[in-house]
Amino acid sequence: MSGHLAVIGLGPGDARTLTPEAQAALAGAEALYGYGGYLDRVPMRESQSRHASDNRQEGSRAAAALAHAAAGAKVAIVSGGDPGVFAMAAAVCEAIAGGPPAWRCLDITVVPGVTAMLAVAARVGAPLGHDFCVLSLSDNLKPWELIERRLDAAARAGFAIALYNPISRARPWQLGKAFDRLRGLLPPATPVVFGRAVGRADERVTVTTLAAADAASADMATLLIVGSRATHVIERPGRSPLVYTSRSAPGRDEGTPA
Ligand code: SAH
Repeated sequence: MSGHLAVIGLGPGDARTLTPEAQAALAGAEALYGYGGYLDRVPMRESQSRHASDNRQEGSRAAAALAHAAAGAKVAIVSGGDPGVFAMAAAVCEAIAGGPPAWRCLDITVVPGVTAMLAVAARVGAPLGHDFCVLSLSDNLKPWELIERRLDAAARAGFAIALYNPISRARPWQLGKAFDRLRGLLPPATPVVFGRAVGRADERVTVTTLAAADAASADMATLLIVGSRATHVIERPGRSPLVYTSRSAPGRDEGTPA
């Protein structure tokens, strides 16, 4: 089968963080699939067809791209950030697992990208410099109780925590609830980073504490990093603070016993 599907990460937004590998994969595609907002970031090429779809149609988008590739075309499907982080690469694998046998014979390439948590972390220093874990706060595909259990476990185990999908119009209360739970487990001074639209014109990055963190300051384009007991802030005169998670944490910084 001659068809090919590339699942490509576009990075957080700034064209400078699009990898040369991703650029080459985009240039080589005959057809581009993706959420409209992400496709808009890819320069137009006359030889390419474009197939934009709504943000929440991952399964049908993956199936359409696979069917197109199975017909012999060189197809690319794009994600913001990295395609393997809460994005299209898993949707493509799921579609292959449940799809016609011919899709298993396709040439599939996943091209990594700079994921939002790395872009946000880099803006403030090294909040993910030691052990951390990553959660999506979206309860579209999993129950909220499971998210709460994982948040509790992460905080108790002493991980810094990166939170994707913190809030949306359909999910207005989840982030506030998450902060409430974390306040019960971590010190009030725990650093919290809000990184919004990093790499785009409307970027905004702020550093606050768990006590002062306000869910209303986040939107769909925001990635949060909640520190651990080993995360510290260095205030600097005339400059934004540096946030880092120490790699040589003494025993008491390693989390609270469960
Ligand atoms: N695949 C993407 C994540 C998709 S989930 C990646 O690897 O980055 C969508 C969530 O990612 C958003 O709700 C937000 O939490 C985060 N996000 C994506 N782009 C971002 C950016 N430029 N700045 C901050 N957060 C971003």
